[in-house]
Amino acid sequence: MTSNVAAMTTSASVPAEPEDAIGGEHSITDRLVEANGKYAAAFADPGMDARPVQRVAVVACMDARLDLHAALGLRLGDCHTIRNAGGVVTDDVIRSLTISQRALGTRSVALIHHTGCGLESLTEEFRHDLEMEVGQRPAWAVEAFRDVDQDVRQSMQRVRTSPFLVHTDDVRGFVFDVTTGLLREIDPA
Ligand SMILES: [Zn+2]
Repeated sequence: MTSNVAAMTTSASVPAEPEDAIGGEHSITDRLVEANGKYAAAFADPGMDARPVQRVAVVACMDARLDLHAALGLRLGDCHTIRNAGGVVTDDVIRSLTISQRALGTRSVALIHHTGCGLESLTEEFRHDLEMEVGQRPAWAVEAFRDVDQDVRQSMQRVRTSPFLVHTDDVRGFVFDVTTGLLREIDPA
């Protein structure tokens, strides 16, 4: 399917940003590169293996308020971190988990969703709106949800029933409270 080039340009629904915030010589990306220079100057090669020390893969939402390593007491080299919008177990997350387990030795999976997730305010209508705007419907599901507990259960189920994974006995799911920093475990039943 060909796309309408005119319709692919910026949309009125995308919030406008001040020019200096997204480009120019003091853009955020420039600041990231500058920070990396300082990081590398103090960096000593830890001589680590690619296999995670704690043999765990953490699947979590990309939410900016969720500092996974700090929240879970994880250190560099401890885990695989797989993040996307919602911490949804998509085919691509299964791809990463399969490689994590079969090539890099992880055995446990922790799923972390959170309170106040952006996906709670979306519906599958989002795909329809995109199609109306750009002329093609995305192949992916939005994976919006109303009940975060149920969404965590569905994610655990997707991991446990994947034919590609070899370790599905230690799969646990949690909701992280962005106001208290506490995890609440979700009963899979
Ligand atoms: Zn989220």
